Amino acid sequence: MKSKLLHPATIAAQALGWTDPQTGAVVLPVHVATTFQRDPDNQYRRGRGYGRADNPTYDQPQALLTALEGGADSLLFASGMAAAAAVFQSLPRSAHVVAPRVMYWGLRNWLSNFAENWGISVDFVDATSPDVLRMAMRPGSTRLVWIETPANPLWSITDIAAAAEIAHAAGAILAVDSTAATPVLTRPTALGADLVMHSATKYLNGHSDVIAGSLTTAHKDEFWERIARTRSSGGAILGSFEAYLLLRGMRTLFARVERACRSAQQVAEALCAYPRIVEVLYPGLAAHPGHMVARRQMAGGFGGMLSIRVKGGAAAAITAAARVEVWQRATSLGGVESLIEHRASIEGPDSPVPPDLLRLSVGIEDAADLIADLEAALAG
Ligand code: PLP
Repeated sequence: MKSKLLHPATIAAQALGWTDPQTGAVVLPVHVATTFQRDPDNQYRRGRGYGRADNPTYDQPQALLTALEGGADSLLFASGMAAAAAVFQSLPRSAHVVAPRVMYWGLRNWLSNFAENWGISVDFVDATSPDVLRMAMRPGSTRLVWIETPANPLWSITDIAAAAEIAHAAGAILAVDSTAATPVLTRPTALGADLVMHSATKYLNGHSDVIAGSLTTAHKDEFWERIARTRSSGGAILGSFEAYLLLRGMRTLFARVERACRSAQQVAEALCAYPRIVEVLYPGLAAHPGHMVARRQMAGGFGGMLSIRVKGGAAAAITAAARVEVWQRATSLGGVESLIEHRASIEGPDSPVPPDLLRLSVGIEDAADLIADLEAALAG
């Protein structure tokens, strides 16, 4: 398939148009072999030796992700956390890292509790401010700037191009957790990012039935090779069946994300006018502090994630979440079903999340049902 000439939605729907050369099947077989034959002269000319390093079922989803992100190569991992950890574990010892204060709490916890074991020091800063980011750089020792945009669960926006310029000027690389934006809305490599990470558990898969992660690189360099070795030697690999399910989900990525964005915008606008709401946090609203940057770096929508702050504090928020009938009370995001969650209950006392905040992951249901259900739950 001449993927350069086609729109990303076409490339995704056809999964690059790959077919099985032996059978003509339009869906490739799932390879379950853990080992591969050597040639009689002791070589591995077909390029694969052992399943932990070389899984043919990864080829198509990794190639598709590379095409959608406009990168040079991609790697699948056992989870989003495994993908992120592989980046940090591949840094040289004594590396300094700059990370955002508002970010996926699991990774913030990992950085706070484990990064030191790998000789890494981390500064958590307000990454939405280029000036603050610039001040946090320590030229010569800062190796990596990690950002997430839109960032969990306030959906704050970081200017990717500005962050890339700041990181590069200090001799560091920029990695972007683009889970909430998806390649449908943002291509961080086109804005200067060096690495893009996804919790593929979320929108890429889209059906709440696979835990997976991915990294895409803008350049196949020495650091990328180290990350690949971290995966194959550390063993944080995805199962073959999960890789197949992930690819299957990615084929409907554009349809799902476009609908989720449309509905999220409608939900956000409807709730803005609702008396029991203190604040609606959604980058698609003109009042959101990151709206103008989001308009620049997100195309086609502002994502399917938003949060609301409920009048009456944590107790009122938890009570409203208890009353929904269409939304599911569950953690995670990016699936076809809409989820609602009292975020502070998950993140604990060190979190920057306000206690009255409910995080909403908008699925692909009819937006009118989602809005009516929330309004009824808030009304009591
Ligand atoms: N990044 C973001 C933005 C997430 O929301 C999550 C999971 O919720 C992760 C990373 C971690 O991904 P996983 O749960 O696939 O390990």
